[in-house]
Amino acid sequence: MQEILKALGIADVNPGGFSGTWTGSGKAQTVVSPIHGEALASVTNVTPQEFDAILTKCHHAFASWKLVPAPKRGEVVKAIGDELRRNKAALAELVTLEMGKTLREGLGEVQEMIDICDFAVGLSRQLYGLTMPSERRMHRLQEQWHPLGVVGVITAFNFPVAVWSWNTAIALVCGDTVLWKPSSKTPLTAIACTKIAEKVLRAFGYDPAICSLAIGKGSDIGDLINTDPRVALLSYTGSVPGGRHVGRLVQERFGKHILELGGNGAVIVSEKGDLDIALGSVYFGAIGTSGQRCTSTRRVIVHSSIHATFLERLTALYAKTPIGDPRKNEILMGPLVDTGAVDTMLAAIQTIKDQGGRIVCGGERLPVAGGCYITPCIASVPKDLPMMQEETFAPVLYVLPYDTIEEAIALQNGVPQGLSSAIITNDQRESELFLSAAGSDCGIANVNTGTSGAEIGGAFGGEKETGGGRESGSDAWKAYMRRQTSAINFSGRVELAQGITLEL
Ligand code: NAD
Repeated sequence: MQEILKALGIADVNPGGFSGTWTGSGKAQTVVSPIHGEALASVTNVTPQEFDAILTKCHHAFASWKLVPAPKRGEVVKAIGDELRRNKAALAELVTLEMGKTLREGLGEVQEMIDICDFAVGLSRQLYGLTMPSERRMHRLQEQWHPLGVVGVITAFNFPVAVWSWNTAIALVCGDTVLWKPSSKTPLTAIACTKIAEKVLRAFGYDPAICSLAIGKGSDIGDLINTDPRVALLSYTGSVPGGRHVGRLVQERFGKHILELGGNGAVIVSEKGDLDIALGSVYFGAIGTSGQRCTSTRRVIVHSSIHATFLERLTALYAKTPIGDPRKNEILMGPLVDTGAVDTMLAAIQTIKDQGGRIVCGGERLPVAGGCYITPCIASVPKDLPMMQEETFAPVLYVLPYDTIEEAIALQNGVPQGLSSAIITNDQRESELFLSAAGSDCGIANVNTGTSGAEIGGAFGGEKETGGGRESGSDAWKAYMRRQTSAINFSGRVELAQGITLEL
């Protein structure tokens, strides 16, 4: 453990702020691993005054960074990707130690960081604007994309490094600077990533404040980010109530935001689908990251003709789930992030029972000293169970029956969140209906693969209470730039649009 921390530049006590120099004289917190309850290291939060200095430097760095040609900015992102490749194993282990996901998932998370860097390098030569025909003679109409400013990145604990990279790799090639406030549950991985970016920026001779960091409580440092007009775009990942608060404050100052909020993923399992694919997709979707993904499968809507068989086979899979130290190769499910998360899960299970749901298996706290382990839970529930409307951020899976595909789609859509959904079917009519305007209302709709594990190439995000934001691939970069439309007159005379005449 000490070797990993040392390799990533983590000391016993670490200042939680960076903008060219490391600062942090606020409250100290000890980071404890959910694997065994052992202390990893301490972090000192930034004070409001230190935060102001960090943002000032990050804002100042934008003035020169925006003038660096985009392909040159891409070279910096390429080097960050290379540095991540070199540190992949150590960073993945730190992710596992700090938040408890399995090492294979930690490695996948760091791979995602590398992938988005590669994507962004290509993007740095493709920040295209359009040229349109002008309605006026000898005129040209065009759009350009310019750098936006400081991008505030506020992240959740469950993807402690990938979400930063999704935002940062894109923001950097777009010419923006980044100010990161990570979850207070995962500050060490944030410090490790910032040190990697610092090393690369220094090697290129650029201002390291381009990738700044401010660790502190959401209710003080978070609110300073929400309300400061120097933060041109705020990319916020977290719960729905948090996003409602952030969105309101950013909107009040006419800032831009990307909101990536809670999900309530569902899989429709058709009787015309492959049962093994259904079982594998649902199983990993529900227990992966111990049910702590925004895209986790929380509901399975199963055709009534196969409901009993599906439930029986899934319960058998659950019974043999290897739970334990997530650093071990054979383990599929590690701990929850902290004891509070375990308590929340147990309280949710009690509510499910009170509302008429039947607990088929799981939901027992496992007695591992210092660890936050619990068995994954399946609940067989009526279609209108009120708890299903909420996102319980834990491995609790609702199984419910349907009779027609239209009913299944209505059940899938019948929650306030709209992030991720899937259908398992070999019937093309069903899958096309699911993907059509009459189908899933989510930002992600998959066929014959589960709700979690999105690839970086597509734009990621969801509708309704999930917030409507998009980040990562496709054309999500446009949110990180400002669009400028220009009409250029080379006619040598005055000509107004819409045919308006002007006598001089
Ligand atoms: P959370 O809402 O508790 O915290 C998220 C972040 O918000 C943290 O960094 C926290 O410090 C910060 N915060 C708290 N108060 C704030 C304030 N007043 N202003 C600004 N920031 C503030 O969420 P969590 O428990 O860390 O993560 C789980 C939630 O995140 C789940 O709801 C999950 O679905 C969601 N999530 C969504 C996505 C997505 O892409 N849609 C991805 C990951 C997680």
